[in-house]
Amino acid sequence: MFAATLDRQPTEYEKPEDLFEAIATLKKDLNAIVLAHYYQDPDIQDIADYIGDSLGLSRQAAETHADVIVFAGVHFMAETAKILNPEKQVLLPDLNAGCSLADSCPPDAFAAFKAAHPDHLVVSYINCTADIKAMSDIICTSANAVKIVSQIPADQPIIFAPDRNLGRYVMAETQREMLLWEGACMVHENFSEKKIVQLRIEYPGAEIIAHPECEPPVLRHANYIGSTTALLKYAKESANSTFIVVTEPGIIHQMKKEAPDKLFIAAPPLNSCACNECPHMRLNTLEKLYLSMKNRQPEITLPKSTIEAAWRPIQRMLEMS
Ligand code: SF4
Repeated sequence: MFAATLDRQPTEYEKPEDLFEAIATLKKDLNAIVLAHYYQDPDIQDIADYIGDSLGLSRQAAETHADVIVFAGVHFMAETAKILNPEKQVLLPDLNAGCSLADSCPPDAFAAFKAAHPDHLVVSYINCTADIKAMSDIICTSANAVKIVSQIPADQPIIFAPDRNLGRYVMAETQREMLLWEGACMVHENFSEKKIVQLRIEYPGAEIIAHPECEPPVLRHANYIGSTTALLKYAKESANSTFIVVTEPGIIHQMKKEAPDKLFIAAPPLNSCACNECPHMRLNTLEKLYLSMKNRQPEITLPKSTIEAAWRPIQRMLEMS
């Protein structure tokens, strides 16, 4: 499914004594930038030149002067960086780092859905494949979805894809109907409402802060709903000192750095695990990141026609947000 040169790094190689130092040296040698999503392991966040959510990372990818972009995130994010920088080399430490939400919207099925509603404008959440982006009119992120949908004329019918939960949240915030693609994120749809309510009883002063990809029964308990960057900002600026964080717990590393005196509790999932890590995001490791730079692969490649078609709706987002 993924276009690239290699899907597995060599198993035997001379491991540097200090991976942080080796990566820093490679960054200089390659004129590379490391972009990392908030859901990456803390070590990767600490080595990154820029840490952010999808919107921030897209902006960085669009503005960088580096020759090589090492994308510590998942496949669709690295694809976005490639679409914005077709002439640059984009590396993804582990090519198997996919996304259940992006996978929940197969291009053939979506093309048929779109064809059945030819008068609809397609707004797609950035968490989708390059093929879906190429079929979209405007891309959005969780940080700007409400702002973007609000700018579309009220009489224009909209298809919103692929995340039904973000779509429902945007519908509630903008007071307008949209036709939703029924996709979801395996992490955000798996939070336990019951356990979150129990945590609130245990920590009566705690505020619940949640990502809009969560299911409505969970979101209705939230004191604040926002993108990962917005959650980070809120946690830092709020007068409150305890937070139940209802998103991938990788963000807590930055929350603790920004507000070391506050307490952040990762919201538990429905299963027996204590926290709810994204198995796709966590496939990337510091070692794989080093190897991807050393070997300059796995590299993300896309057909020129896909890059051209997917660039326009991303560009529209950057202009509208
Ligand atoms: S947290 Fe969800 S949306 Fe984000 S990469 Fe993982 S599966 Fe995809």
